[in-house]
Amino acid sequence: MILKKKKMGNKVIFLDRDGVICKEKSYVTKLEQLEIFDYAAKAVRVFHILGYAVIVITNQSGIARGMFSEDELVKMNSKIYKEVKVDDILYCPHLPPKQGEKEREPYIIKCTCRKPNTGLIEQAVRKHDLTLNGAFFVGDRASDIETGQNAHIKTVLLESGYGSTRLEKDITPDYIFNDLMEFAEFLQEKGNAI
Ligand SMILES: [Zn+2]
Repeated sequence: MILKKKKMGNKVIFLDRDGVICKEKSYVTKLEQLEIFDYAAKAVRVFHILGYAVIVITNQSGIARGMFSEDELVKMNSKIYKEVKVDDILYCPHLPPKQGEKEREPYIIKCTCRKPNTGLIEQAVRKHDLTLNGAFFVGDRASDIETGQNAHIKTVLLESGYGSTRLEKDITPDYIFNDLMEFAEFLQEKGNAI
């Protein structure tokens, strides 16, 4: 009997986008502005070899702010799939209304997917049959670390984006590394010990 091979591992590493796999630039509004780190594909390959699914979870409120369209983001995502080979990219295009402001569909709403909410993590778990046991959330901002903590998974702060000098809140990640490659090398050395 041939066992059907599962398409993705159950283990998962969630990655923020800007400052993690590409340069942090406050808002990346055009495909041409998306500068993918040269080590990003290599790091993702290491995660895959170690049996992790790799899923990008990103806040893209520039869409709600009218700075770029969802079509433009889809183009950026295609480039990331092609060059970095992540398994999925889930994004929140929303922005909560300011105080006194009314919600305006489709984008100015109080959603459950904007980090530090865990809506996109839950969506990924359902979509790809993932377990959060041994999962990591990797990002460069306090909201990324909070997202991981809200989902009760391990958190990794990278200094390749805003880094620890720009943490908006007093928050303690489980690990701090210079960049994604350094985290990949750490996991590789640890093997199953983590
Ligand atoms: Zn949202």
